[in-house]
Amino acid sequence: MFSKILIANRGEIACRVMRTARRMGIATVAVYSEADAGALHVAMADEARLIGPAAARDSYLNIAAVIAAARATGAEAVHPGYGFLSENAEFAEACAAARIVFIGPSPEAIRAMGSKSAAKALMAAHGVPVVPGYHGDDQSPATLLAESERVGFPVLIKASAGGGGRGMRVVTASDEFARALDGAKREAKGAFGDDRVLIERYLQAPRHVEVQVFGDMHGNLVHLYERDCSIQRRHQKVVEEAPAPGLDAATRRAVGETAVQAARAVNYVGAGTVELIMAREPDGQDRFYFMEMNTRLQVEHPVTEAVTGTDLVEWQLRVAAGERFTRKQQQIPLHGHAIEVRLYAENPARGFLPATGTLHGLHLPDGAGIRVESGVRPGDAVTPFYDPMIAKIIATGRDREEARARLVRALADTAVLGVTTNLDFLGCIIEHPEFAASAVDTGFLDRHGAALLADPPVPDTALAAAALFRAMARTGGADPWSRSDGWRLNLGPAPQSLCLQHGETEHAVEATRVGDAWELALDGRLVIARAVALDDNRIAITLDGHRETVRIMKHAATILVIAAGRGWMFEEIDVLAPPAAGDTASGRLTSPMPGRVVQLLVAPGERVRQGQAMMVVEAMKMEHTIAAPRDGVVAAVHFAAGDLVDDGAELIALEDAS
Ligand code: ADP
Ligand code: ADP
Ligand code: MG
Repeated sequence: MFSKILIANRGEIACRVMRTARRMGIATVAVYSEADAGALHVAMADEARLIGPAAARDSYLNIAAVIAAARATGAEAVHPGYGFLSENAEFAEACAAARIVFIGPSPEAIRAMGSKSAAKALMAAHGVPVVPGYHGDDQSPATLLAESERVGFPVLIKASAGGGGRGMRVVTASDEFARALDGAKREAKGAFGDDRVLIERYLQAPRHVEVQVFGDMHGNLVHLYERDCSIQRRHQKVVEEAPAPGLDAATRRAVGETAVQAARAVNYVGAGTVELIMAREPDGQDRFYFMEMNTRLQVEHPVTEAVTGTDLVEWQLRVAAGERFTRKQQQIPLHGHAIEVRLYAENPARGFLPATGTLHGLHLPDGAGIRVESGVRPGDAVTPFYDPMIAKIIATGRDREEARARLVRALADTAVLGVTTNLDFLGCIIEHPEFAASAVDTGFLDRHGAALLADPPVPDTALAAAALFRAMARTGGADPWSRSDGWRLNLGPAPQSLCLQHGETEHAVEATRVGDAWELALDGRLVIARAVALDDNRIAITLDGHRETVRIMKHAATILVIAAGRGWMFEEIDVLAPPAAGDTASGRLTSPMPGRVVQLLVAPGERVRQGQAMMVVEAMKMEHTIAAPRDGVVAAVHFAAGDLVDDGAELIALEDAS
């Protein structure tokens, strides 16, 4: 076994690999960019080396710098994690040339599966079923259109080099084809430096079922059953679970065997995932087809570990060190059920735009059956440079319902202050009756999106907790919430008026001390409240005799209350301060993120209607459309296609039509 390894990655996956290495007695080396000097993965490692500036292409994607770091520290092997260099055949070759073990498959296997087109051709040749479509070399728009017509609309245009759901477009009719092809090619070029595409029949309401496979260097290949990753947004996984609900034993066996057959076609060594797409045919039969193979450890590998009782990183290290599998296929158990969600810094209300900022408050759940993988701590920043995932939360149970119920509670016990997240959205998915009934397919979020984003009315408990918190801070100096000695709210001589804004709504609260309790007027409704500070930012609040425990976090004028299963954010409004002018009201349209303008759709002097697309900005590898907030006339355009824009930069000035 190795005595020292380097982890060529960052964030949660770097931390996760280090934990297993440490348990196995292996020393760890981290690499980091200038933006990550204070990151958790650097603090966790035995040694760490700076490899370049913040931009990933200058640091985490810089092969020479990573190899130099491994050499300088005497690391015998490199674990690439996922993303970054994990599926880069040149990197695997550079490791070999430097006599460093690449913890992953051979460069040949990476290459064979790296192009979706070539992989499909190879799979078809080996008798693995593939989705009907076109994956040839002729990339002329006319051929691609003709092939789409042959396959039959709707079709899916996919980047051959694709990954992470990027470079994909659904096309429902011939006349939309040209525009969709442009978009897919542009996104593919930007994300992968390669704009070749393939065409597939777009399957209706399919399921994404993928199989974890593993090979050793001695010709043994096994699978560790399947995962269902059908809950997706824009072809990106949001929720993953193992095993796939509702598969009968014969289908389970068939998907496992197909995956092993696919892996065998490339003499696969190490951890890999064969992604299949499963659709119900008109004859009522479930059919599955090969979609792609990811030649690395997958983000969602913990759900497989949970139901097979394995540590896949340990398996990776053992295989890379040349050890032989001791277990045969029949000896790999499958028990219980596990569900994972990806907690992202993003704003569901604004089209899931990636969010950045400082994690002023962060509470991640724990308890029976709960596992959390995270690469950040309270006080850390989510920067625009890398994937904005904050944590993966995984719940395991004896069966799906137990895992689901545990996950519901775990999400209700999670709090993030300072950065907008998809936390409430995740909670709504896991609690949705259709999800609970295992009715999962890739159309789930499109069907239920609006309902999952609904903003329910603020419960009195949340408003009262925020108000009491502020009333207290105004009256006394000491912070009662960091004390755990049963301190009671009994200060505050005179009635206090507060204005707490939640979303667009301002809530007026009056708080008056009455003995050891408070009389609160919540938007005019009178209630009697009591509060007791507990540990860990929690308080027990009693409203008219009903007691609940909530969590409170505060930063500047923002108060976050976790109550009734979700987070309620309040801004305390200083009623005496003048109102701030909104961006849209003043006609300025600003960039939501640092990024690059990819397309300009309007010119100065042009009339636009509310909702009309005016500009497309690419940020964090995704395209975001800047739409007109109201009818008007374009007064000025400040950037051209190709220009870089800063967060908050004015893009377009809009004025009222005369
Ligand atoms: P797949 O390639 O099938 O999407 P994963 O879900 O494991 O498989 O994700 C693979 C890669 O996509 C990882 O490199 C991950 O960093 C990246 N990725 C996943 N989600 C996002 C996201 N929201 N934004 C940017 N990159 C992402
Ligand atoms: P990526 O490399 O971005 O992960 P995939 O080929 O794995 O690309 O596809 C990502 C997702 O897109 C799948 O999980 C599935 O939900 C959807 N998808 C892919 N191919 C099809 C298809 N032919 N029909 C319908 N949906 C598809
Ligand atoms: Mg995929």
